[in-house]
Amino acid sequence: MPTVTAETTSIAKQYVQSVYETVIKRNPHESEFHQAIKEILDSLTPVFAKHPKYMNHGILERIVEPERVVSFRVPWVDDSGKPQVNRGFRVQFNSAIGPYKGGLRFHPSVNASIIKFLGFEQIFKNSLTGLPIGGGKGGADFDPKGRSDNEIMRFTQSFMTELYKYIGPDEDVPAGDIGVGAREIGYMFGQYKRIRGGHEAGVLTGKGIIYGGSLTRTEATGYGCVYFVNEMLESKGLSFQGSKVVVSGSGNVSIYAMDKVNQLGAKVVACSDSNGYIYDPNGINLQTVKRLKEVERKRISEYVNEHPHAAYTEGCSGIWSIPCDIALPCATQNEIDEESAKLLIANGVKAVGEGANMPSTLEAIDAFLHNNVLFGPAKAANAGGVAVSALEMSQNSMRLSWTFEEVDAKLHAIMKNIYQNSVRAAEVYGQSGNLVVGANIAGFIRVADAMVAQGVV
Ligand code: NDP
Repeated sequence: MPTVTAETTSIAKQYVQSVYETVIKRNPHESEFHQAIKEILDSLTPVFAKHPKYMNHGILERIVEPERVVSFRVPWVDDSGKPQVNRGFRVQFNSAIGPYKGGLRFHPSVNASIIKFLGFEQIFKNSLTGLPIGGGKGGADFDPKGRSDNEIMRFTQSFMTELYKYIGPDEDVPAGDIGVGAREIGYMFGQYKRIRGGHEAGVLTGKGIIYGGSLTRTEATGYGCVYFVNEMLESKGLSFQGSKVVVSGSGNVSIYAMDKVNQLGAKVVACSDSNGYIYDPNGINLQTVKRLKEVERKRISEYVNEHPHAAYTEGCSGIWSIPCDIALPCATQNEIDEESAKLLIANGVKAVGEGANMPSTLEAIDAFLHNNVLFGPAKAANAGGVAVSALEMSQNSMRLSWTFEEVDAKLHAIMKNIYQNSVRAAEVYGQSGNLVVGANIAGFIRVADAMVAQGVV
């Protein structure tokens, strides 16, 4: 193996910088995509310095360019009879280690930059799970808020009428993300089945249990994030028991992160939605949150009507001013900026686990790392969802269903493994304790080796 010298490090740095500049030039105005690329590329310099073969095979130039990007019109008719048009996307980023795999997001902010950042992150996250899944992501700039069930059904059917051409159990397997839960997956699966004329269960994950879904998939991302943070805490002789926790969001990831936090004997004192946050010093009543958000699809502000001792504050970022031992950002990208990170640090936060994708800005991550806050980056800490999606695909192929306990045990083992692999990679490349670098490198090497083996494709 070549030795690392000042010269090889300098060559590696120049290589990484030139690829980054090409990405900026080729994808102008895509700030979220640039941010995701920068975070990963910065960590990979020591890998190229140690293994120049990855430069010789053009791995970086190839990995930053999606294998395929599809963008399409989604026409549908609203309840008043008015035609509406949205824009749909599917980015098939990398299939070196398996079929493209990644969720669909329905949110008005969706654009090419958001889907590309998510798809790029997904390559490394999926690799970290150790399972045979490539990276992809998709969605539409559709806002499900305030839409009737019938409107959701017509929109998702129209979306799938175009998307079905590009997906399949061995090609590309979408799942849920923001705005896409069991209801939307159900409608999309129905439309896919109708068009294809067969019950290809493995084409989507996050399905209902009665038609091919996996037990524990609903809980997987939130549970997995807490399992990961628990590993970080245990490494320092700490635990969730008796801790005060702040969890942003009140969607799928957030709700099941709160559930597991409660099971481990900690208290969640705050959560939020896109309008504001609630603070309940007695501990958030999760049953109320679940009913409000999952069943009645209401605003989190309504929580205080049933729990008058709790307080509601308009606006999301203030949630990070609440003192806590552990912070779990589980809502959306860039929700913790440098200022919020500094507030958390000043208030004594010990650990941060990213349940959402890229919830911390690059400056916020630096602040956590420089202040010795245990930091679990998204692509490692929230990989539990896609890991159980891959287990759903396995069950679909075998035409059987594992129990909740079996899947949960596999999820727990996968999260431990991701933690250990990230710790080890950080150590090997001289950045002990930095799980951002460790996760990026561990995820990258598996994909890069597969790309080397498969030639320039
Ligand atoms: P949901 O749609 O179920 O929930 C999202 C939550 O975040 C809602 O409470 C929503 O509030 C809130 N939110 C959305 N946008 C904003 C915003 N701009 N500011 C503040 N809060 C906001 O999505 P998920 O729970 O599935 O996803 C949450 C995050 O986790 C995303 O980053 C997603 O990519 C990531 N993720 C999800 C996985 C999964 O398995 N679902 C897997 C891995 C990562 P409101 O109710 O007002 O819309």
